[in-house]
Amino acid sequence: MGRIKHQALAADEAARRRAALGDLIPYGADVFCWCNRCGHNAVLPLKAMLARFGPAQEVPALGARLRCSGCGSKDVATRPDWPSLGQVARHETEPEGSS
Ligand SMILES: [Zn+2]
Repeated sequence: MGRIKHQALAADEAARRRAALGDLIPYGADVFCWCNRCGHNAVLPLKAMLARFGPAQEVPALGARLRCSGCGSKDVATRPDWPSLGQVARHETEPEGSS
């Protein structure tokens, strides 16, 4: 299995088993959140989230503890904002014989 696919699967797996904030540290992933009421969204820096909620806080449950800065709703959804996958994909080697 290629390294790229392995990383993608690892990220997918981490998301599936409800990643906690501490799980995002090796990936350098921040927390992406959006408001289900008004659609406002933002990326919250992982460091700030760790300082406020601690590494055991599950990311999907984090939204219940946040409030939308746009409309004040507490109907906020959160997920890890995996930053490395797109960039890693560009390192994929081309099949031979392409030139
Ligand atoms: Zn809102």
